[in-house]
Amino acid sequence: MSKREISRLSRRRFTQLAAAAAAAPLLAPAVARGQAAAHVVVVGGGFGGATAAKYLKKKAPDLRVTLVEPNESFITCPYSNLVLAGWRDLPSITHSYAALRDRWGVEQVRDEAVGIDADARTVTLAGGDSLSYDRLIVSPGIDLRPPEEGGIAGYDEAAHEAMPHAWKPGAQTLLLRRQLEAMEDGGTFVLAAPPNPFRCPPGPYERASMIAAYFKAAKPNSKILILDAKERFSKQGLFQQGWAQHYGEMIEWVSLSADGKVVEVDPASKTLITEFGMEHTADVANVVPPQYAKAIARNSGLADESGWCPVDGRTFESALMPGVHVVGDASIASPMPKSGFAANSQGKTAADAVVALLAEREPGNPAWVNTCYSHVAPDYAISVAGVYKAVDGKIVSIEGSGGVSPTDADDQVRQLESVYADAWYDSITSDMFS
Ligand SMILES: Cc1cc2nc3c(=O)[nH]c(=O)nc-3n(C[C@H](O)[C@H](O)[C@H](O)COP(=O)(O)OP(=O)(O)OC[C@H]3O[C@@H](n4cnc5c(N)ncnc54)[C@H](O)[C@@H]3O)c2cc1C
Repeated sequence: MSKREISRLSRRRFTQLAAAAAAAPLLAPAVARGQAAAHVVVVGGGFGGATAAKYLKKKAPDLRVTLVEPNESFITCPYSNLVLAGWRDLPSITHSYAALRDRWGVEQVRDEAVGIDADARTVTLAGGDSLSYDRLIVSPGIDLRPPEEGGIAGYDEAAHEAMPHAWKPGAQTLLLRRQLEAMEDGGTFVLAAPPNPFRCPPGPYERASMIAAYFKAAKPNSKILILDAKERFSKQGLFQQGWAQHYGEMIEWVSLSADGKVVEVDPASKTLITEFGMEHTADVANVVPPQYAKAIARNSGLADESGWCPVDGRTFESALMPGVHVVGDASIASPMPKSGFAANSQGKTAADAVVALLAEREPGNPAWVNTCYSHVAPDYAISVAGVYKAVDGKIVSIEGSGGVSPTDADDQVRQLESVYADAWYDSITSDMFS
């Protein structure tokens, strides 16, 4: 859609809204009084940000919404583990921003936000420009902690080539896949899993499952060793049941107390060294280090000493910076997990709250659902679900809701869950990008 078409659309919507304003005193005062539309800037076009930008325009078409995102398209982490298995390719998990721009009228600025001035209400961009906003929504995701900031000794940026993390999808996913393809049958793949909190609690274990599916088909004498910085993990019983059923002894998991925490790596020899000095040499190593909120959130004062961003659970407005809402993995929204589903729901909550606050209305009282599916083997998936609500600004689990797939389910149930998983992926990406 051209700029002129967008402004024609805006005028038509303005006329409709102005007419409605007479009957609906709760409309945004700026619109009702015929002032210029308010401007909301969204930083980050992933699960939280793309959703927020679209839903802002859906709820308040006259609002001016600018999405700041450096990339031309978005590659999802969800289903990137399936690329490692060879079940999917990268184009099938890559999504265009065209509908956000052309259908919804979101303006996209291809740049990186490098600073936020909450007093002046401006965002500074790497390219040198700055954008002023009435409200700001930030959903920039995570960074991997470097060695000097609580990461793993030796795991600096240069080490990401020899020992890929593949925790941000794209080139890293393809690099890890190539290394797996080049590995001899009978080799050892070692995965270092991070401590809590981190992006996608079931992610490392779905990854081990997908690599086991590939090995079973192509390199059946190979081994998978998971060295874990945690004592337990998401859907553990279900994963371990599926591993025993499909992969026998192929996958070994070492917990924190069994000396699973990797504290140092040597990329040259692909060696991972644990807390109590055990050395594991891998043919292919996948290191997923400790994490914190992405740089823009930390550097602009949105994060606290934990490295994550405290928010009001009802509106996702920052507890540290008024007028700025933080959603997705960067926010502290526990007990909600750091998942794409959660970020998508939080993006809608923030959009709703921003529209209400700009109209000087009381924001609603949201509740959320999260389901995380994990593929374990061909036609075999499992899930965990939770239901949450905000009480006095804090997010809590709703008692007695949610849970995991039954452990005694038969193969037909697991097969159905793999169909539901695919349907979930299609529907959430369509919700965000069409
Ligand atoms: C292997 C793996 C599998 C996963 N599987 C699932 C799953 O099955 N289901 C599920 O629900 N979740 C899954 N997740 C988790 C999910 O990917 C994240 O929880 C989700 O992406 C978080 O959304 P977000 O908006 O916080 O960040 P992202 O989706 O990462 O989006 C952040 C965006 O911000 C942009 N950005 C960053 N900094 C700036 C800046 N300074 N200026 C402008 N833009 C910026 C980035 O380019 C990016 O586009 C998985 C994660 C991994 C790693």
